[in-house]
Amino acid sequence: MGEKRIVYMDHSATTYVRKEVLDAMIPYHIEFFGNPSSIYSITRATKKAIDTAREQVAKALGAEPDEIYFTSGGSESDNWAIKGVASANRKKGNHIITSKIEHHAVLHTCEYLEKEGFTVTYLPVDQYGLVDPAELEKAITDQTILITIMYANNEIGTIEPVAELGAIARKHKIPFHTDAVQVIGNVPVDVKTQNIDILSLSAHKFYGPKGVGALYIRKGTKIDNLIHGGGQERRRRAGTENIAGIVGLGKAIELATADIEGHNRRIRALRDRLMKGILDKIPDAHLNGHPEKRLVGNINISFKFIEGEGILLWLDDEGICASTGSACTSGSLEPSHVLLATGLPVEISHGSLRLTLGNVNTDADVDFVLAVLPKVVSRLREMSPLYLKSGKEGGCNVQ
Ligand SMILES: *Cc1c(COP(=O)(O)O)cnc(C)c1O
Repeated sequence: MGEKRIVYMDHSATTYVRKEVLDAMIPYHIEFFGNPSSIYSITRATKKAIDTAREQVAKALGAEPDEIYFTSGGSESDNWAIKGVASANRKKGNHIITSKIEHHAVLHTCEYLEKEGFTVTYLPVDQYGLVDPAELEKAITDQTILITIMYANNEIGTIEPVAELGAIARKHKIPFHTDAVQVIGNVPVDVKTQNIDILSLSAHKFYGPKGVGALYIRKGTKIDNLIHGGGQERRRRAGTENIAGIVGLGKAIELATADIEGHNRRIRALRDRLMKGILDKIPDAHLNGHPEKRLVGNINISFKFIEGEGILLWLDDEGICASTGSACTSGSLEPSHVLLATGLPVEISHGSLRLTLGNVNTDADVDFVLAVLPKVVSRLREMSPLYLKSGKEGGCNVQ
C-alpha cells in the first residue's frame, strides 16, 4: 500500500473505534480479565464495569439500567427481539407487521418465521421511504403480536415517524420493536416519549467496537430467550460477557450522545454541500430518500444509465470508500429492495451510490469527491450502451 489518500464515506457500514473508547477497553483485556461469574474479588472490577456500561446505555435511551441487555451486535438484537416476542406470544396470535425496507437482519428473520407458521405483513413505503402510520393501523388484526419498524433506514437514511408508529402499537397493546442501529448519535432517542418497547443498537455504527450491541426491553414485555445457556444478563442472554466490548459500547454511546446537535451541525454542513454539489454537477441524478427526514450523514443518489458497482470500483481506485444499493449475488446484480420499495425503476436503482459521512470527514474530502465523482460518472456513461442509446441526457423523470 502506498501513501494514497483515503476518503472514507461509508460510516453507515461501520465506523472506526474512537481512541477514548479503545483506551477504556484495553484494561479489560489485560488486567481485569476475570470472568464476572466467578466469585473471587478481582472480578468485582469487571462486574462494576458492566454495570457502568449498562447505566451509560440506559441514560442514552431514557431507559432504566435493568432494561438493557448486551448482545453480540445489531443482528443478534434484531433476531432476539423478533423471534423472542413471536415465540413468547405464539398462543396469542401469529401475525407480525414490519416494513419492506428493513435491514436483512429483520427481513430474513421475518421470512424465517413465515416458514415456522407466522404470517408477516410487509408495509409499503412512499417515494421517500416513509411508512404511513395509517397503513400500519389498517394492517393490525386480532392476531398481531409484534410490530417491528426501523427507526432510520441504512441505505437511504429516511427517518421513520417512530413515536407515532409506537403510539399506534401501544393503543392496540402490541409490542413495538425498532431497529435503531443507524440512529444512535444522530437522532436523540427516548424510549419513553417515543413509545418504544424494544430497541436494537450496535456499537460499531457509533465509533465503538464490532461484535457488541444491546437490546432494550421495556419492563414487563413478554419475550423468550434467544441464546440459551448460563445465567448471564439476568438469565436472559447466556454466554460469558464480552467485557471489553461492553465497556467500549458504554463509552462510545456516552460520547456519541453527549452533543448530538453539535455533531449534526458539523456533519450536515459537509453532507449538504456534497449533496448539492453532486446534484448540480451531474445530470440525470436522482436523490433517493427524504430531502429533510434523513440521517445527517446520508447521501443516496441514483445515476441514470450506469451501475453502482462500476462507480464503486472507479471511486476505490481514487481512494474513496462508498457503497451501492445493488448487491452482487451469485454473479448477477440484485437491485436494492429499499430502492425498489420507493418505486424506483429497476434499471435506475442499479446506478445508486451511497455516501455516508461521519467524524473522519473534512471539507477537503468533500472537495475531493466533488472533483472525482463527475469524471467517474461521465467516463462510465461514455462506456454505457444504455447512455448511447438514450440519445444522451434523456430527461430523468423519476422525481
Ligand atoms: C448494521 C446494521 C445492522 C446489523 O448490525 P451488526 O452489528 O452489524 O450485526 C442491523 N440493522 C441496521 C439498520 C444496520 O445498519
